[in-house]
Amino acid sequence: MNNDPRDNALQAATPTVMVPRFGTFEPLTEPGHRFLATADGLWLELKRAWLYLCMPLVCQYSVAMPYGRVEESIDLIFGSVPSALMEEFCGQAKDRLPNEHAAWITWNEATGHIRLRALCEISAAPGHIHFNRPVLDEGEHLVLDVHSHGTLPAFFSATDNRDDGEVKIAGVIGNLDTPHPTAEFRLCALGVFLPMPGTAKGKES
Ligand SMILES: [Zn+2]
Repeated sequence: MNNDPRDNALQAATPTVMVPRFGTFEPLTEPGHRFLATADGLWLELKRAWLYLCMPLVCQYSVAMPYGRVEESIDLIFGSVPSALMEEFCGQAKDRLPNEHAAWITWNEATGHIRLRALCEISAAPGHIHFNRPVLDEGEHLVLDVHSHGTLPAFFSATDNRDDGEVKIAGVIGNLDTPHPTAEFRLCALGVFLPMPGTAKGKES
């Protein structure tokens, strides 16, 4: 029992669950995240309306732990980002050269609608872009936070790493002044970055 109610609040919000070795493991069904003590270490389980993620954080095999196992999983519940929206973004980003450009792609869980959201830009230059986050409709979720690097190649900069602490897919498009723009995508999950399976790199637009 905790002797400080703040610990009770923290642990209730983000518990560590012992995965049953013999019984049935019940995955998270509501938005949030928690930690799983498993036979091989400590895992992160994370749920959003558009995403289910289960991944190992720390694995160890030296000490036997009396828990069960879970499977790695990245389930993009919303489906995938339509290529037409990416092409629309690339067109906008080319118009903004040599400055950077940014937009959100959102998914509405009630309607299934995926849309390209313009952002309220504060300032943009060849090396940075600042914007205010848009107010989303009820049931609408940020899925892909995409920005351009103008004429520079697509890569995630130190600034991008600082900006990508929430749960979203992040994308960068670069070399927009050439016939062969470059692209990088990653899944951001509370500070860890995972490569996106099946995303095209160096896609022409
Ligand atoms: Zn960047």
